Order: sequence, then structure tokens, then C-alpha cells
Amino acid sequence: MLDKKNFYINGAWVKPNSAEEIKVIDPATEENCAVISLGNKVDVDLAVSAAKDAYESWAFSSKEERILLLEKLYENYKKRWADIAEAITLEMGAPKDFATKLQAGTGASHIKSFIRYLKNFEFEKPLGEHAPNQRLIYEPKGVCALITPWNWPMNQVCLKVMPAIASGCTMVLKPSELAPLSSIILAEIIDEVKFPKGVFNLVNGDGATTGDALTSHPDINMISFTGSTRAGALISQNAAKDFKRVSLELGGKGANIIFKDADSEAIERGALRCFRNSGQSCNAPTRMLVEKSMYDEAIERLKKYTETFEVGDPKKEGEHIGPVISETQYNKIQTLIQKGIDEGAKLVAGGTGKPDGLDKGYFVKPTVFADVNNDMEVARTEIFGPVLSVIPFETEEDAIKIANDTAYGLTNYIQTQDSKKVQRVARKLRSGMVDVNGAGIAVDAPFGGFKHSGIGREAGEHGLEEFLEVKAVGGWSN
Ligand code: NAD
Repeated sequence: MLDKKNFYINGAWVKPNSAEEIKVIDPATEENCAVISLGNKVDVDLAVSAAKDAYESWAFSSKEERILLLEKLYENYKKRWADIAEAITLEMGAPKDFATKLQAGTGASHIKSFIRYLKNFEFEKPLGEHAPNQRLIYEPKGVCALITPWNWPMNQVCLKVMPAIASGCTMVLKPSELAPLSSIILAEIIDEVKFPKGVFNLVNGDGATTGDALTSHPDINMISFTGSTRAGALISQNAAKDFKRVSLELGGKGANIIFKDADSEAIERGALRCFRNSGQSCNAPTRMLVEKSMYDEAIERLKKYTETFEVGDPKKEGEHIGPVISETQYNKIQTLIQKGIDEGAKLVAGGTGKPDGLDKGYFVKPTVFADVNNDMEVARTEIFGPVLSVIPFETEEDAIKIANDTAYGLTNYIQTQDSKKVQRVARKLRSGMVDVNGAGIAVDAPFGGFKHSGIGREAGEHGLEEFLEVKAVGGWSN
């Protein structure tokens, strides 16, 4: 069992003030694989104070210095890539290949991308040619609390830590208590790179104690949070008291609209995108809306595809999916599958219980429900497991109406060969992202949602600007 009880504060690994511990569970074996500390108010105070002190000079560091340090960080990240992937497999059950290529891979892509945007970003510029004496200055927002979930641990951490560094902010990272191990490796990498002490700090712990102490701390200027809508609302209340800046990436219930002229792989691709990462992606297309004239064919194909979809040991190579994160999530998913059956949705594949031969570990059967209507709980609640709800529709207007009839608005999907239809529908969908015919959303495109899916955007230039305040100076002269 790994002992990871120390925190990284003010440029050193330190023994926590808190004596409380949290066990990290390997979801594939249900065994205790590591132990971390549950940071208390004193630990949080120490980390915030280090970040506050460091801000005094880091805020005025040069762009060149930050680029050099981030480039070194990127080189060291590549050297530890395999360790990061292994930690992710252990802490949240992503299978080896997926953890290496996608989970650890997106972290690397974000580092590279933020270096590029930092190089091109103009921190000072005139308002415009018409007003040369009006100067815009982009300044770091200050001391940031970065709070992340367990489902894409390095992706989410890098989406926050890298633009915070690039903008000149200082920070305290509190990763998910369920999946803290990859973040601890990132802290080791940052330590090797030798950032000025206090720029980056890491405190572990849960939401109710450590997260709350961090987000209510008076010296925190900005909170960047990814996680549940529930915690997002609590954090916003903490932030409101002293007007902290808040960026929230929350849940989703994406619709994948399959028109009858969709390409020949659209149905299977949609199911794969829903099941991937064991269904634990906020942007997963979990509601498949299928045009009536191809509905029966779609259900037949989904049944065939899902019945042979492999679930297995994440430590093995291959394209299978692993377990879900925890017993709590497993039980929640089971309850929702049962709810779908009770509400009258037609179970096409999967169902409650564990897949054959996988009695130990939080493994869930990939599940497809047909004849779902959009008022059922399986169509409204974010299940966060490999469960697909299929809903028939008659017309383009119906499809748009059903897609938008949700509290969320993160990613929607369109499958059709008709480019005019793509443009009409994409403009009407109420979501931060629209993915057409499996093209994917670029790693540096703005990532974020409408409605209950959050506030603000991550990644690329938009993600960098989240960490900056703009100041207008009138009467500037060169
Ligand atoms: P969670 O909200 O319970 O936890 C996320 C993080 O917030 C953890 O680090 C946790 O310790 C912390 N936290 C919890 N309560 C807190 C509080 N009151 N104050 C401060 N911090 C608190 O969510 P989870 O179960 O870890 O993650 C799953 C959820 O996250 C899903 O709903 C999913 O859709 C959402 N999510 C969204 C995105 C996105 O980019 N939009 C990405 C990943 C996950």
C-alpha cells in the first residue's frame, strides 16, 4: 500500500497538521491501494498563505520565464507518462491502453497547447487603432483554488494548473480524494522543475472539510472547479460572500441526434462514446435520439454491439472498459438501471448486476434502454455509468426540442450527411459544444457548458483568459 500522506506546500513535501487519513480504493479489486491525509483548516491556511506570498513576485514574472518552466514541465511529464497512466489505472480503473493514450495523453496535450497559447498571448495591447492611448492590461486573477474530480484526473488537473501557471496566478490544488495519485506525481514533476516556491501547492482531502475550507478562505481570489452540480452550487455560495471569481465545469446529459442519413458507423460510434471510460464522462452522449424510420434497425444494432462489448481487468491491455470508480457510484447506477426498468423503458442489453465472471470490483454491465421518453429518470439524471437511453423522434424540430429539454447543456452530437441540416441544428442546440459526425472537439477549443453544466470555459485561449483580469488604462503613452 502506498503512503502518500504528505502535502506539497511552499516548495517542499511536508507532514500534514491533520492526523486524519483517507484510504484510496482500487475499484477493480475493492482493495485499499494507498493512503492520503485529509487536510484540515490549518493545512489549507498554510497552503493558501504560501500561494499568497508567492503571488507577490510570480504575478510579475516574465512570460519568457513561465514559458521556460512550462517547457521543462512538459519534458518531465513525458518522462513520467507511464507512471501517470499506471496511477490512473490504479486510482480510478481506466484500462491500461486508455489510461496511457487518452487519460495521461490529454494531460500532455493541454500542457503543450497552453505553452503555444502563452507564446502568442498579448498581455498588453491598445484597445484598438481608433484609441491608441487606451491600454488593455491582462493580469493574473490571484491566488486560485483548483478543485478536480476523479473521472479524467490528469485532463482536469492540467486544464487548471497549466493556465494558472501561464497567467501568473499561484494556486492550491485539491484533487479528488478518490483519485489523488496522478496529481501527486504531477506535484513531484513540478517540484523537479523548480518553480519558485509557493507558486503551486497541493493539499489532499475531501469536499466537506478541505474543499470547503479552501473555497471559503478569504485569501482565495478565484475558484476553478470541476465536478458535480451539487458541489458547484455549494462552492458558488462560498464564493459569493467575498466575490471570488468562479469557473465551474459541471455535469451533462448529452443528446446524440441520429438522422436517417447518418453514416454507417454512427450508431456503434455513439454507443462507444457513451460507454467509454465506463460512462464516466460529463460530455458523454447518453441520450441517443433516433429518427423513427431507422429506429428498429438502430435498436437491433445496439443490442448486437452492446452484448459483445467487453468489460474487464483494467491492468490488462485492450479496448475494454474497466470498473466504475466506487461502491457508491456502483450502487447509484444499479438503482438508476432498476428505475429505468420500473418506469417502463425497454431493456435491450445489460441490466442490473455485475458482468459474468467479474464478481469482485465495481464492474457494471453496459446497458441500453429503448423506448425511453424524455421525462423518465434515465433520460434526465446524469447516471455516470455505461447506460444509454434511446429515444425516437419524428422531425428535426422534435429532435431539437428533446435535446434541449434538459437542465444541462454541455455537449450535443449530430449525425447526418446533410451539411445544411447540421448548420440549422447546431445553431439551435443549447450547449457549449456540438460534435458532428464523430469529428470530435479540438483539445484547445473552449470546453464548457450552458445552463446547469457550468460557468466559463477551459482549454486553449479561452481557458487562459479565465485566469486573467483585464485592466483598462486611459492616457497611456509609449
Ligand atoms: P464531486 O462534486 O462530489 O467532487 C468533485 C471535487 O469536488 C472533489 O475534489 C471533491 O472533493 C470536491 N468537493 C465536493 N464537495 C465539495 C464542497 N462542498 N466544497 C468544495 N469541494 C467539494 O463530483 P465527483 O463525484 O467527484 O465527480 C462527478 C461529477 O463531476 C459528475 O456530475 C460529472 O458530470 C462532473 N464532471 C464534470 C466535468 C466537466 O468538465 N463539465 C468533468 C468531469 C466531471
